[in-house]
Amino acid sequence: MSNIIIVGGGASGMFAAIKAKENNPQNNVTILEAQSRVGRKLLSTGNGRCNLSNIGCSKSCYHGSFRKYIDTVYDICSVDRVLKEFSTLGLITIVEDEGRVYPISNHAGAVLDVLRFRLESLGVKVDCDTRVNDISKNNNVFEVTTNNGVYNCDKLIVCSGSCASPKLGSDSGVLRILKNLGHCVTPLSPALCPIRVKSNLLTSLKGVRVFGKVSLCDNESLIKEEYGEIQFTDNSLSGICVFNLSSVLKKAKRPVISIDLLPYSDKKYIIKTLYKHKVLFGDMPIENLFTGIFVKKLGIAALKQAGITSFSRKTISITDEEVTAVAEVIKGWRFTALKSNDFTHAQVVSGGVAGGEINPYSMESTIIKNLYICGEVIDIDGDCGGYNLQFAFASGIIAGENV
Ligand SMILES: Cc1cc2nc3c(=O)[nH]c(=O)nc-3n(C[C@H](O)[C@H](O)[C@H](O)COP(=O)(O)OP(=O)(O)OC[C@H]3O[C@@H](n4cnc5c(N)ncnc54)[C@H](O)[C@@H]3O)c2cc1C
Repeated sequence: MSNIIIVGGGASGMFAAIKAKENNPQNNVTILEAQSRVGRKLLSTGNGRCNLSNIGCSKSCYHGSFRKYIDTVYDICSVDRVLKEFSTLGLITIVEDEGRVYPISNHAGAVLDVLRFRLESLGVKVDCDTRVNDISKNNNVFEVTTNNGVYNCDKLIVCSGSCASPKLGSDSGVLRILKNLGHCVTPLSPALCPIRVKSNLLTSLKGVRVFGKVSLCDNESLIKEEYGEIQFTDNSLSGICVFNLSSVLKKAKRPVISIDLLPYSDKKYIIKTLYKHKVLFGDMPIENLFTGIFVKKLGIAALKQAGITSFSRKTISITDEEVTAVAEVIKGWRFTALKSNDFTHAQVVSGGVAGGEINPYSMESTIIKNLYICGEVIDIDGDCGGYNLQFAFASGIIAGENV
């Protein structure tokens, strides 16, 4: 029998608590949750639908120093296993586009409910409004200081998440505590978020959505590329494909986002098409060059980016050099990207407890015995598509089973 405390009642914490109690019903298991209820972030996931996993989950969907251990984690607790655990709790799931798994009810609340009800039926103690402010270890006993007094335990599972989307109550205070206890914490940066870019054309593009290929380059060398819907805001590029680039933004010294607006057509074909449009819409103002291809706002911005400034001209007046310049913009519109420390719009955080300091077979710290670390506290973050919750659940299950 052990006294087990879990710091944080989120995705990983709730599963860790369930498993710790199921494994040995004699265990005293207590969740300490800073907010007034457990699983608040979970309710906001997947636009309220909770994209809880992905059947195409693989190492290539993850970043960070714990990535090299992800296969070990999923050998023990695969996507199938997580979904079976949920099925045992009563949750029916469906698989949608790109392997994304959702609850059949389309409500994140369903995921939270099955976890909460299991915690209740197992007799896990949940102390909400209880923020952990400090942790120390003396004579094999952890002393956990909170705003509601001091708790003692012999095993501690840290599941306190990250400071992404701070309006949902998250912060990185526990990482500071882990650092004081001797853990190495890699630098934190926002991930799965819009990327701020410099361009005086953005204001005119606000609200435009277009399918394309986005590439993150360090000056000229490619870091990562993605296809999908690109959304323009007044200061950023957004959309899932851009979110997936934000996770590796920190790898670039001089980050540039290049957009290919017609990724399935080569430059030769685009030039041929532009000449066709030059004739077709010849008598019309030049802003009509992209009729049938792009929305007008995007077409005008692309012409401006190609150096065309006069819009009283007719389309027929476009020169050969201008056609080439426009085609170049369409195939590779470059935006200087700005790195940011603003976690407000981030879904996850890149960085955390260094991967080498956690045993992937048990999630136990290799620095402090009987301390387990799960979920987003660890230096690992996944692409958009259910990979982050999959990791949170799997790591929570493994820690709970090994505690
Ligand atoms: C808007 C949004 C949408 C998202 N959508 C998806 C999605 O669809 N699919 C997906 O895979 N991922 C998604 N994510 C990411 C996903 O929610 C997280 O990766 C996941 O919740 C991490 O689980 P966790 O258990 O590590 O942390 P959390 O679920 O964040 O839980 C941590 C808990 O610890 C508590 N806590 C923190 N500090 C303390 C403290 N000092 N004392 C006590 N308690 C503390 C917090 O209040 C919180 O309840 C989304 C994130 C956001 C912000």
